Amino acid sequence: MTTTDCLFCKIVAGEIPAAKVYETETTLAFRDIGPKAAVHVLVIPKEHHADVVALAAADPALAGEVLAASAAVAKAEGLLDGGFRVIFNTGPYSGQEVFHVHAHVLGGEPLGPMVA
Ligand code: 5GP
Ligand code: ZN
Repeated sequence: MTTTDCLFCKIVAGEIPAAKVYETETTLAFRDIGPKAAVHVLVIPKEHHADVVALAAADPALAGEVLAASAAVAKAEGLLDGGFRVIFNTGPYSGQEVFHVHAHVLGGEPLGPMVA
């Protein structure tokens, strides 16, 4: 996977539309196209890294910025009181489908068991 055929790099570049909810110089957050909860936002670094393992190895500071952006999204979406979940699907067992690292921020309703 290169950045030129990466779906989320295309969203960063503005080539594919997305419902953006939060942005910093280095991160972008937008609503998941197939929400799995009342609030389901994806938080990504603008720079392409395949998954959280690659991101943490290449740029730990940027990994921290993705976490900080996830917390800011949770606050902006009103999730702090009810609680929420932050998930990085990673590799085959997780079902990761988009190989541009993204945090799923899920909340806005009771979420049920973590592993169904
Ligand atoms: P993964 O399974 O890789 O952890 O999650 C990928 C997520 O990206 C899925 O929840 C899926 O609904 C979402 N997704 C796939 N294509 C698009 C798209 O074009 N736009 C948006 N906003 N989300 C997408
Ligand atoms: Zn990418």
